[in-house]
Amino acid sequence: MAAYEYETHDYDVVVVGAGGAGLRATLGMAEQGLRTACVTKVFPTRSHTVAAQGGIAASLSNMGPDHWQWHLYDTVKGSDWLGDTDAMEYLAREAPKAVYELEHYGVPFSRTEQGKIYQRPFGGHTTEFGEGPPVQRTCAAADRTGHAILHTLYGQSLKNNAEFYIEYFAIDLLMEDGACVGVVCWKLDDGSIHVFRSKMVVLATGGYGRAYFSATSAHTCTGDGGGMVARAGLPLQDMEFVQFHPTGIYGSGCLITEGARGEGGYLTNSDGERFMERYAPTYKDLASRDVVSRCMTMEIRAGRGVGEQGDHIHLHLNHLPPETLAERLPGISESARIFAGVDLTKEPIPVLPTVHYNMGGIPTNYWGEVLKPTKSNEDAVVPGLMAVGEAGCASVHGANRLGSNSLIDLVVFGRAAAIRAGKILDRNSAIPQASKMTIDQVLDRFDNVRYAAGQMPTAELRLEMQKTMQADAAVFRTDKTLAEGVDKMNGVAGKLDDLQVIDRSLVWNSDLMETLELYNLMPNAVATITAAEARKESRGAHAHEDYPDRDDENWRKHSLIWFKGSKASLGFRGVHLDPLTSHNEGGIDLKKIAPKARVY
Ligand SMILES: Cc1cc2nc3c(=O)[nH]c(=O)nc-3n(C[C@H](O)[C@H](O)[C@H](O)COP(=O)(O)OP(=O)(O)OC[C@H]3O[C@@H](n4cnc5c(N)ncnc54)[C@H](O)[C@@H]3O)c2cc1C
Repeated sequence: MAAYEYETHDYDVVVVGAGGAGLRATLGMAEQGLRTACVTKVFPTRSHTVAAQGGIAASLSNMGPDHWQWHLYDTVKGSDWLGDTDAMEYLAREAPKAVYELEHYGVPFSRTEQGKIYQRPFGGHTTEFGEGPPVQRTCAAADRTGHAILHTLYGQSLKNNAEFYIEYFAIDLLMEDGACVGVVCWKLDDGSIHVFRSKMVVLATGGYGRAYFSATSAHTCTGDGGGMVARAGLPLQDMEFVQFHPTGIYGSGCLITEGARGEGGYLTNSDGERFMERYAPTYKDLASRDVVSRCMTMEIRAGRGVGEQGDHIHLHLNHLPPETLAERLPGISESARIFAGVDLTKEPIPVLPTVHYNMGGIPTNYWGEVLKPTKSNEDAVVPGLMAVGEAGCASVHGANRLGSNSLIDLVVFGRAAAIRAGKILDRNSAIPQASKMTIDQVLDRFDNVRYAAGQMPTAELRLEMQKTMQADAAVFRTDKTLAEGVDKMNGVAGKLDDLQVIDRSLVWNSDLMETLELYNLMPNAVATITAAEARKESRGAHAHEDYPDRDDENWRKHSLIWFKGSKASLGFRGVHLDPLTSHNEGGIDLKKIAPKARVY
């Protein structure tokens, strides 16, 4: 048995993660006088939220008429009618409040002439329940919205006496009789082990983009929260829904904005053919994101990819006048140079459909409380455990997320979790104590990983997982490719037993940390392809070649995946259709958001 000394820390609340969701939860908890710790594996302002440029959606009506019910409608339609009505209603209704709070905390939003928060248009955001013109709903701090939000929330959290544990890696949850009573962490710079005991743990660990070969997200987006939850015997929800952006730079995944094609850029295959003309004669390279991504993948699968391994596509901007490139796309020129080594005035950029967002995650209600679905479909909550942000699945994005709806999700549900915890936690009660056995179990697993003495280096198995997911669980999905993919991924997951950790040190050991992260990525990856194989319809980001239509009668339900060891099992849960407030009380008119075809 592993013998580790550890330090214990007692708090009312421990938040794991310091991105937008974790910091908003931390601040809300601390403001109410709850003793709050925030544990994070990277410095708070280096969380992936820092990369969000576009903005944050809320119906402020600063640029023209808008209404929270229109925002709700757009979110429902964007989700392809898979989101939970209560959660989507809560999101759209609370969004303006959450943004004004950010403003008062000090987020330096861009301004209109009148001094109001500036809002820009974004895809899928409309007026009059989709009948009217597009709306300017996306609040922005220039092209640094996520950056501005993180810095503001971090400063405010410190001011409210939240305590930060920076570069601490959360290993596993402490679960006693079905309740969460804390979390065990490894301090990366000195190798010490820390046991946090608390009345509430909030997982805000972000997405799992790095399960794929090409992702726009940071290398730290490894689905650690999902991994911890899966090991605790709890399910992951709607994992088959993964949003792809057509043009990530091959290899690095760094995003090339849609604006590049807007300025006249086009895609070619290994024959030099502008293949989008064949698939989408009218909009060509400017067809919608999912369509372009799917066509690129079909070209690659047909053996017409470019490069040594024929596994990517070329994006041409070299025909455009250098002045246009310098003036309109300066950032892209720089990204192409740094991340692809390409001078885009002379050569094409190698690109690949790239994972951008995970709609699925840890199932919660709209307060962020983690759900434990029961046979009777009456969802019980897991005492002591919440999940918010991209790690969670409330579910507001359903099968597909609208642009600028993630940042608002982070702050609305980070805030909701704090409001809820303020109500249900008894400040005077004793902090639950995990038994020695429970703590030892976590440390034994940690020790097993640390001393893994198989044949396979972590980086090799990670690459195999990423390539398999990219080939078989990306945008092109058929019964055959998915069934093959499930088999392959089960094989890949099996190789975890054969990992070899070379460096056994506990101090700044990236080999060990990346191995722990791979253990977290794996259940996220297996859940994604297993749920995708099971869903026999097309909905949102899940486009299935053999079942091209949405099937509300059989498939308007959330998928759930449980793990026993590395073996996945599947279940389903109904979509919450009841609103929080009826139409008579000024709430929503269910007729307005009833399912119909999703056309734009
Ligand atoms: C390039 C890019 C641009 C985007 N642009 C927009 C946009 O304009 N508008 C929009 O709405 N959305 C956008 N998105 C999506 C949005 O930014 C993300 O969904 C969101 O930032 C996720 O925030 P989060 O708080 O859930 O997690 P993150 O910001 O990813 O933070 C995760 C946190 O968890 C911590 N953590 C993880 N695992 C552990 C562990 N084991 N132990 C301790 N700590 C841990 C990390 O240290 C980090 O602090 C964009 C995404 C990308 C990748």
